[in-house]
Order: sequence, then C-alpha cells, then structure tokens
Amino acid sequence: MKTSSLFGEILGGLQGVAGKDPNFGDTIAMLKKPKRILQSRLRIKLDNGRPAVFSAFRVQHNDLRGPFKGGIRFHPHVDLEEVKGLALGMTLKCAVVGIPMGGGKGGVGVDAKKLSFAEKERLARAWVKAFFKHIGQEKDVPAPDVGTDAQTMAWMTDEYSRLIGFNSWGTFTGKPLDLHGSEGRQAATGRGGVFVLETYVKRLSPARAGKKSRTVAVQGMGNVGGTVALLLRERGYTVVALSDSRGGWYDKRGLDVEALVKAKDSGFKMPKQTVSNAELLELPVDVLIPAALEGQITKDNAARIGASLILELANGPTTKEADGILQRRHIPVIPDILANSGGVAVSYLEWVQNRTGLYWDEEEVNRRLETLMRTATLNVLKQMDAASTLRQAASCLALDRLTRARMLRGSTY
Ligand code: NAD
Repeated sequence: MKTSSLFGEILGGLQGVAGKDPNFGDTIAMLKKPKRILQSRLRIKLDNGRPAVFSAFRVQHNDLRGPFKGGIRFHPHVDLEEVKGLALGMTLKCAVVGIPMGGGKGGVGVDAKKLSFAEKERLARAWVKAFFKHIGQEKDVPAPDVGTDAQTMAWMTDEYSRLIGFNSWGTFTGKPLDLHGSEGRQAATGRGGVFVLETYVKRLSPARAGKKSRTVAVQGMGNVGGTVALLLRERGYTVVALSDSRGGWYDKRGLDVEALVKAKDSGFKMPKQTVSNAELLELPVDVLIPAALEGQITKDNAARIGASLILELANGPTTKEADGILQRRHIPVIPDILANSGGVAVSYLEWVQNRTGLYWDEEEVNRRLETLMRTATLNVLKQMDAASTLRQAASCLALDRLTRARMLRGSTY
C-alpha cells in the first residue's frame, strides 16, 4: 500500500461502519480534519561542516479524549500524508485501548541510518526547537517510532526541558530507564499483542486454545517481531518462521527463536535464509503475525494466505482490498489498532508514572498492561455481530468512545 493513502484507507474503513450509529457521521467528519498540522524545515550542521536541511512534521490529529499522543519517525518516506494517516491511527488506537489520550504523529524525512550519532542528536534537538511551543505533558506527548529510540527521546527531553526552564519528564515517553522511562516499555507492543491473541483465542476459539502446539509465522524480527516470537515460544507456541528485511528462516518443527534473535541483535553471522518474505506470508500456520511494514497483505497474495488467523502487529500491514478477500475466506484479522496498542498503553503508564513521581516495577507494569489489553479485546469482541470483522468492531468501539466524548464536550467539537 502506498503510505500516502493510509489516511484515506483508514477513513474509508470508518465510513464502512458509519451506519451503525446516527452520530458516527459527525465524528467521522471531525476525524477527517486534523486539529493542527505543524511543518518546518530543520537545518543542521553535518559532521563534515556542511549544512543539511530536512522536512519535519507534527500532526496533532485529535485531543478530544486527552493530549495528542504518538511517535516521531525518522525515515526517508516520511511526508505529510503518511504522518496524517499514522496520527489518525493513533486517535483510534488510544480510544480502542481506552486510555485518556488523543492522536498525533511526527516525523522527519531523513535516512536515519546515514546519520552519525552526533548528527542524529542535532536533528532530534532541532525537531524540538521547531515544535516545542506546541508540545508538553498536558498538550502533546511524543514517543519513539521507526528510526528513533530511547536515546532520541533522552535528547528531546533534555532540549525541551532546557527550552522551558525545568525538567519535564512527562512530555516524551519511551525514554531510557535512567531518565524515568518505564519498566516494560521495550517489550510492551509484543507483550500486548500476546495478551490480545490469548484473550481472543480463549473467547472465540476455545478449540484452538486447547491445541497443544500452535504454529506461528512472524514477519520482521525487530523490537516487535523479535519480542512476540520469544514470548510466544515461551508460552508453548511453535514459531516455524521468522524474517528480517532480506528474507527469513523456516522450519516446520520450530525455530530456535532465542538463538536467532540473539545472533541478529549481536550482529553475529546468521544462518542461511530458507524462505522469502513473500513465501513466509503464505505458510500454512495457525497464526500469521506481520510485524514489519505496512502493505504486506494485498489483493495479490490475500487469496494464498495459509494462516487461520492474522495478528497485525505492524501498522497497516493489510490493505483494504486484502481485508475483503480475507473476510470472504473467513480468516479473522485482529487489527493493528487493537493488536499493537500495547506500546501506547505502556507509554501512557510511563506518562502516569512521570506525572505522579511514583514508579512501578516491571511486574506491576506488565500486570496493568495485561488488564488494559484483555479489557480492550473483550470490549472489541462485544461490538461484533455476525456480519462484522474485528476491524469493523474495533472501529465501532473507537467511534463510540469518540462520539460520546464529542457530544459531552459540546459544540466546539
Ligand atoms: P524495528 O525497526 O525494530 O523492526 C522492523 C523489522 O522489520 C526489522 O526486523 C527489519 O529487518 C524488518 N523489515 C524491514 N523491512 C522488511 C521487509 N521488507 N520485509 C520483512 N521485514 C522487514 O521496528 P519495530 O519497532 O519492531 O516496528 C515494527 C512494526 O510495528 C512497524 O510497523 C511499527 O510501526 C509497528 N509498531 C511498533 C511499535 C513499537 O512499540 N515499536 C508500536 C506499534 C506499532
């Protein structure tokens, strides 16, 4: 899928459930218009002394239910359309998981891999200088995304605190633990996905839940894919396939996930790849987990998907056309706005800890994450009727919460 169509595709999905409630139409009209779009050109000095200029964005999509919330992406494909789509996704995701936050997203059009450590720091600080008047723990709370990480959030927190004159720990989430990040944040998206999967299988498919060994294929082995593969392996699933950007490894008896993830993280030589990313998506498994990029399951391969269930941990991995094909084939898709909301759920827990000054251990954070994810999944399932997909049910839940907040807040929304 072209990322530029993400905003339109998500809105199209919402239009599909507009008829469920007479008030949804006005809410969708509100969601079509981001509340504020900020753009800037960031000029930094490269290590060779030459200047470089990058386009930077912050889309503050909606703050009806709480401060704008969403990551900052450093990637060459970043443009306004992509950021708008991702920001809208955040508004829906925060509503689905039931946290008191709205939706936002930011980014810089840059190949972060080509920047030195010092150049990346200058770019992170430049982003904050451009937008600091509009962010803050009560206004807009950014986090890491593709191409940014805890170190980036540390620089941004420092720059923001310097500009406003005091430390503001709650303005950015996904910070390092030594700068008051949260325990459990790193693994939160993968762990949250496991809670969603378990709740779904137990409630809707007890026969599958009782199966001794369930097979899984995971596309992507970064933060999200690597974590979910390890956690599912620990829980008795057989992870038969796992991949990175170049291809993957497949063994129908099950992979040694720990060894592969460890080798990848430490830069060791990896075993020879035995499956392409395209083949991995079509393997006959119980659960397929796209955990890399958007637009992976399309009209071209949806008819050949061999999985019985899809858990979307990447953002937007299934196109609208593919969704229709999978629905006709009775392959349930647990949508990204529910499945990968564990990351923003623990970002919210980090923000709560920063604002109260009371910090929880990992067990406590995971316990709270589990409650949020299981509750969100059951709430989505309550919205299901015989004809609806899980994506439609999750969209209805988000629209319902946003509509109630909009109507209570009155005419300014
Ligand atoms: P990451 O950069 O840590 O990992 C991405 C992985 O995808 C890497 O293993 C990379 O090799 C692989 N990859 C890249 N191109 C690929 C390709 N063409 N085919 C197959 N694999 C490819 O990123 P991440 O944080 O794990 O995020 C993965 C996805 O999850 C993204 O869509 C992201 O938006 C989404 N997501 C992440 C979080 C989070 O907390 N990190 C939260 C919500 C959603």
